[in-house]
Amino acid sequence: MNRILFREQPVTPSKVVCVGRNYVAHAKELNNEVPTSPVIFIKPNSAISGELQAGTDEPLHYEGEIALLIMDGVIAGVAFGLDLTRRELQSTLKQKGLPWERAKGFDGSAVFSDFVALDDPLESLRLQLDINEQRVQEGGCGEMIFKPAFLIEAIGHDFTLEDGDIIMTGTPNGVGAFQRGDRFLGQVLAGDRLLVSRQWTAR
Ligand code: ZN
Repeated sequence: MNRILFREQPVTPSKVVCVGRNYVAHAKELNNEVPTSPVIFIKPNSAISGELQAGTDEPLHYEGEIALLIMDGVIAGVAFGLDLTRRELQSTLKQKGLPWERAKGFDGSAVFSDFVALDDPLESLRLQLDINEQRVQEGGCGEMIFKPAFLIEAIGHDFTLEDGDIIMTGTPNGVGAFQRGDRFLGQVLAGDRLLVSRQWTAR
């Protein structure tokens, strides 16, 4: 089983629960309707990675996201996460009304920085993603359609959140394809204060 680090200790998530279309501008950039209830899908533990791999079958798209770690049923930690997506395959599956797992839940599709303890108010959380020193995404809880507290409740209605489970809270606009060699810098801030960051070079 794959593990992440929370406060420098290894933790084994049973699953990653992802929220789709949680920022209005991103839903529109993919020509999706703005949802009236959360769009939820799951990545298995086998999707988790600390490394960033570029696509082989088709170019992968990055989605930078605020990732929340659950302990004892509450949000205990935060990280920067990348929800990697085979966008062409996802579009085909969506058109046919088929499940997205092959486009969203493949090995290495859930990439995380280390998780740090969250002591700041959730509303203050923001993310920034730079690729090759260019800012490509930024956003935060203030712009989310469904806020973290609501998400925990909605997800918990159907899925027990075990200790170590991760919620990916959706991506702001600015998603796109990347290639081997691209340099990523993902950061999560509370207001203007940096909480956690991680650099990757896509392999
Ligand atoms: Zn996503």
